[in-house]
Amino acid sequence: MAGERVLVVDDSAENVEFIVDYVLKPNGYSPIVARDGVEGLRKAKSERPDLILLDMNMPKLTGIGVLEALQHEGLQIPVILMTFHGSETLAVTAFRLGIKDYILKPFQVEEMLEAMEQSLTEVRLRRERDDLLARLLNANRSLERRVRELNALFSIGKSVTALLDLDKLLARLIEAAVYLTGAEEGSLLLVDEQSDELYLVAARGFEEKVTRSFRLRVEDSLAGGVVKTGEPVILNSTDAKPIKTAYLVKSLVYVPIKIKNRIIGVLGVDNRQKERLFTEHDVRLLSVLAGYAAIALENARLFGQIESERTKLATVLASIEEPVLVTTGREDRIVLANAAARRALDLGATVVEGHPLAQLLDNETLVDFVSRAPETGSARTSEIPVSGGRTAYATLTSIPGVGRAVIMQDITHLKELDQMKTEFVSTVSHDLRSPLTSIQGYAQMLGSVGPLNERQEIFIERIVRGVGQITELISDLLDIGRIEAGLDMEMVPCDIAAMAEGVTNQLKSAANGKGQELVFHDPPGKAVVLGNDLRLRQVISNLAGNAIKYTPEGGEIHLRIRLEDSTVLVSVEDNGIGIPPGDLPYIFGKFYRVESDETADIQGTGLGLAICKSVIEKHGGRIWAESVLGKGSIFYVGLPALQ
Ligand code: ADP
Repeated sequence: MAGERVLVVDDSAENVEFIVDYVLKPNGYSPIVARDGVEGLRKAKSERPDLILLDMNMPKLTGIGVLEALQHEGLQIPVILMTFHGSETLAVTAFRLGIKDYILKPFQVEEMLEAMEQSLTEVRLRRERDDLLARLLNANRSLERRVRELNALFSIGKSVTALLDLDKLLARLIEAAVYLTGAEEGSLLLVDEQSDELYLVAARGFEEKVTRSFRLRVEDSLAGGVVKTGEPVILNSTDAKPIKTAYLVKSLVYVPIKIKNRIIGVLGVDNRQKERLFTEHDVRLLSVLAGYAAIALENARLFGQIESERTKLATVLASIEEPVLVTTGREDRIVLANAAARRALDLGATVVEGHPLAQLLDNETLVDFVSRAPETGSARTSEIPVSGGRTAYATLTSIPGVGRAVIMQDITHLKELDQMKTEFVSTVSHDLRSPLTSIQGYAQMLGSVGPLNERQEIFIERIVRGVGQITELISDLLDIGRIEAGLDMEMVPCDIAAMAEGVTNQLKSAANGKGQELVFHDPPGKAVVLGNDLRLRQVISNLAGNAIKYTPEGGEIHLRIRLEDSTVLVSVEDNGIGIPPGDLPYIFGKFYRVESDETADIQGTGLGLAICKSVIEKHGGRIWAESVLGKGSIFYVGLPALQ
């Protein structure tokens, strides 16, 4: 490769001419000529040639003199010394002074070229190495810069997800924007849709006075243009430009902050003093930061929304008079307990959130009630004793994704009223019973004290029947009072099949009297429950008695016992008058009787089924009926089997 610049330092015009015309020019080198050592040294310094061809003997300054001066100056230009035979000793000195080679005059073109190429190859290699090194350093520098940028972006990205304080986060974003772009100032402006203005939410480098009042109209400002177009803006100018009245910048970048294609603000950096120009790379860096700003602002908005909903809900729950308790997880850890719940459960001011219910309460009934969650969508209810000897009616609901919620109503007052009513009824009915027994006794005795005429006999019969009815009513009322009060409820294992068979035998004559068939179906296995013998017998008897009562002459009644899973199921089926569908849900209520032509002449208190229901519920069982009007009814009783 040629093209290198070669300085020929020689006082012989002939020599110079030869080297220039026959060696350098034809081989593509650019010659520089100096006619003595002093000129040679000057040109070496000013022209910085790639190679020097140096004559040894020259006026003013010899070749050795030039070499010494070059070494002194620290100029590292390869030198080939041109000398005559006999001056080899000088060549040794010259080598010490750093020459690359020497050639003896008169020299051959080939020889000269070879020496030149050898020296230049070294130069070229060195230059290439220097070039590569410079490029490597450059690449390293820009890599380091990239790493710094990525680190800064990464740490900002982390802050976006970790920091909840929006002001702090935005301040960090601006800090990063200024740092990454090497700008003097940074600003984050948001659109105020009402006034169609941009206002400053975070800034760096701005005076505080400016910060507070900084507002730009979207309509006619540079930042507003970014909002309208959604495109970034770079402004690079050596002269300061006003971007807003009295605000001069030399260069700036604005990028839009977008949330789902909606521009909500602008992130910008600028220089007021520095001459530094912004590049597309700066735009890209700012755009990444603008993306983070968008996420942070949207997160803050959503968080604010949720927080305000939560506060609203918390306020509503706190002001509800009824105790509300929400738990979650397998251990029923408390998520929420409103003030009423704290009062009702004696929780005081202790922190209850996050603690298992069982750890905080010694109310076993409630803990147990909550632990047995109902199916999703359904609710379970129970009476729960709470503080101060009060009673609450609790409703437990499963809430998918949350846990379980218990709402309690204070029913202490209702319970007291109920108790008063029960006591009242039992006292009154008891006090009525004695005079009624006398009336009935004396009425029946009337016939034995003297002859009665036909009408008197009819009247007496009516009196006896009426008293009988009142007595039945009173005894039902007394029963229901005692059952509800839980009196005389001694529980023993009861063989339900034997019991039903006994009842069948007792009622057989009544059924036969109406020409009905009363059939008991013996179950294949044992059907034993833990219960009160007297009351369970009463239930079966009531159901079978009703079946006889509400089935016309010649009908059929079947009593069946089955064991299904862990339930003893008793069914009483008749083919009697049936129950209208509209009445069916109410027949187990106190004093409820179906009013129809068929039932008009049938006596009853309307308490029989209410007694049954009360008894069965006291046994943890269930009672229900199915019926088709005019075709018949089936009454079912399910009781937990004694395993
Ligand atoms: P009652 O003393 O009136 O029989 P119950 O509480 O035993 O009171 O029954 C309530 C009502 O349910 C009855 O009045 C009757 O209308 C209806 N009922 C009960 N059992 C039957 C049945 N087996 N068939 C038709 N209706 C019935």
